Amino acid sequence: MAQFNPEQALWHIRREFGEHGGVAPSISRSSTFTVLDPGIMPDIFKGVRGPEKGGYFLYSRHFNPTVDTLARELAALENTEAAICTSSGMSAIACSILQLCRAGDHVVASNTIYGGTHALLEHLLPEIGIKTSFVNISDHAEVQAAISSNTKLIFTESVGNPTLQIANIPMLAKIAHESEKLLVVDNTFTPMIITPSFLGADIVVSSLTKFVNGASDVIAGVICSSKEFVYQLTDLHTGRIMLFGPTMDARTAFDIQQRLPHLSLRMKEHSVRAQAVAELLNKVKVNVIYPGLVSHPEHELMKSMLNDGYGYGGILAVDCLTQERAETFMSLLQNKERFGLIAVSLGYFDTLMSCSGSSTASEIGIEDQRAMGLSPGLVRLSIGITGSLPVRLEQIERAAKETGLI
Ligand SMILES: *Cc1c(COP(=O)(O)O)cnc(C)c1O
Repeated sequence: MAQFNPEQALWHIRREFGEHGGVAPSISRSSTFTVLDPGIMPDIFKGVRGPEKGGYFLYSRHFNPTVDTLARELAALENTEAAICTSSGMSAIACSILQLCRAGDHVVASNTIYGGTHALLEHLLPEIGIKTSFVNISDHAEVQAAISSNTKLIFTESVGNPTLQIANIPMLAKIAHESEKLLVVDNTFTPMIITPSFLGADIVVSSLTKFVNGASDVIAGVICSSKEFVYQLTDLHTGRIMLFGPTMDARTAFDIQQRLPHLSLRMKEHSVRAQAVAELLNKVKVNVIYPGLVSHPEHELMKSMLNDGYGYGGILAVDCLTQERAETFMSLLQNKERFGLIAVSLGYFDTLMSCSGSSTASEIGIEDQRAMGLSPGLVRLSIGITGSLPVRLEQIERAAKETGLI
């Protein structure tokens, strides 16, 4: 299969320099923008002029030059025509779905998704007449059967949170497109590693809060899609981004932009270390889930979708079977070994770990958790890139022994 090279794509777009020839771009903090001629203003409202039509800006909830620059880079990274940055991953997801669905419409979604997205689809959207069928996204007959005439989209994560189920994006795109539906993919876990749009996805949403920013100091999101969809989202009269207003701040955009140059180095290192930890735990017979292990049921599938050279990602899961043992394991790793931090979220430079069933997936009912194969003792580890790898391996092996996992 032809390969997509995200790094090549990212660095071949027009570079943005700062005022006075600054090698770092300037931050355009203005909330509103002036025009020399009053006749220009009505044209902006009519959509005849705009950021890409003559370089006209209006108001920063609509478009901001700094936020726009980041959006252009993220579109290049995700191989889409355009992108729009948002104030969080959740707002990117919610606005995308609400732009595509009206009352009476229907969504087919994977049952292994982020707790917040699950809550949105399961509880909030039905209140306004948008229903979701949750399916096992690896069971393509089930996905097909769940599609009806009022279905607007299939929603999945490339690598499912937190069970690390892998979505077959080319197959799901085929199923969606055969019945004229859209495939929306959340690529938060695998920037650079998997490029969903290259594999057929129509819209790619991401929480930039995680790997893309990588420093756990901002909340941010992005929608990568066609220009047409970005126009719809930012339409002054009907656009969900424009009217709900989850805009990204220019300073946040600048911070994230300054971290994109080392995203590929970070992703490679997260993968190298997660692979080493997973192989060690697997060797000593700890129940570890990681798509880079040949024993992972969807290892070959993930391999077939990867961009070369970035590995299998930084997230792995260890099944301690009970919540109590999961807590012992995490406590030893944090307080005795200094291996990582007990915290939700992921993609930080230090290791973050949480017991998914009682934290980020706790919005999902216990029955649904069982249905999606989520054990109450599952510890999700987002493997960091700090410290010496051999020492990290000793630390986690000791903690696993002391917890009784070995
Ligand atoms: C964190 C996360 C989100 C939500 O992103 P926020 O930036 O916290 O709003 C969505 N999807 C996945 C897979 C996530 O991990």
